[in-house]
Amino acid sequence: MSYLLRGVAARGGIRVIAADTTYLVEEARERHGATPTAGAALGRTLTGALLLSHVLLKNLQDRVTLRLCGDGPLGGVIADAGLDGAVRGYVKAPDLQLKPRPDGKLDVGSAIGRNGEIEVIRSHAPYGELYSSSARLASGEVAEDIASFLAVSEQILSAVLLGVYFERGRVARAGGIILQALPGADPMALERVEGNVRSFRQLTEAMGEHSLLEIMDDLTYGLDFELLTERALPLYFECRCSEQKALDAVAYFQPSERNRMIEEDGGAEVICHWCREARWLTPDAIWSISGEEIRCPSCGTLWYREGQAAMIRTDETCACGLKVTLPA
Ligand SMILES: [Zn+2]
Ligand SMILES: [Zn+2]
Repeated sequence: MSYLLRGVAARGGIRVIAADTTYLVEEARERHGATPTAGAALGRTLTGALLLSHVLLKNLQDRVTLRLCGDGPLGGVIADAGLDGAVRGYVKAPDLQLKPRPDGKLDVGSAIGRNGEIEVIRSHAPYGELYSSSARLASGEVAEDIASFLAVSEQILSAVLLGVYFERGRVARAGGIILQALPGADPMALERVEGNVRSFRQLTEAMGEHSLLEIMDDLTYGLDFELLTERALPLYFECRCSEQKALDAVAYFQPSERNRMIEEDGGAEVICHWCREARWLTPDAIWSISGEEIRCPSCGTLWYREGQAAMIRTDETCACGLKVTLPA
């Protein structure tokens, strides 16, 4: 099982959040058929999103989406997590494999690219309002990017460690830790943590010999670590796709194209890009797509469907460049 632990050190001045995500990262790797390079980028991002949810969110229904988009050949990686322990994510190019770096580590920085953006989107319960903030990528290695995002965008001082270790093409160990300075933290304690982190070896290497709790203890050595979670919080890969969302995707096609799917294929297969689960939509399900629709007069993109939340608003721009106008 994958799990998360929370604790404090230095009399509450430092917050420690640690996760062992080995099983869920392996599940994600398998679902997406990811190579070690792409799987490491995905695994670090999934783990990072789970850790970030404990730094940035308050309610169980809130979610955080972490997106790294650089100029590398991976073409971007995204993960979405919540305090309920559920996470999902994908990479644009799961089959990308790069030569390891000279030090033997997987070259995630070159895969993601060093120039680009890290974006963090929070969706807050109960209405799902979105709040987005972003920063420049620091290195494309994910952990440094998250630490620099937290410093620049949130004025949160932190150290972030993330790792995914492969054996024979499978994820053997994966995990992450955030050590966060809370307001009023003793500067001496922060210096001590910095020193501990600097002299710490690789996280996945340590995970091979020590429990997560021992590692948290090690990283806060000399600062009276205190575990707050009596029971570890289970973490798992879980998507939120549904038949309704698959139908919403098919609804974007013109009615004539939908009829062709029914006539020529006897239905439609929709593959979720988050989890790669394939869903078969029967003719009856496709016929159930109804309601008046308004489409772009130039390119045919669906602008509005009766009974559905707004897809595109008046004055926004259509994919073809045309200004959208909807009847009031
Ligand atoms: Zn899905
Ligand atoms: Zn258009």
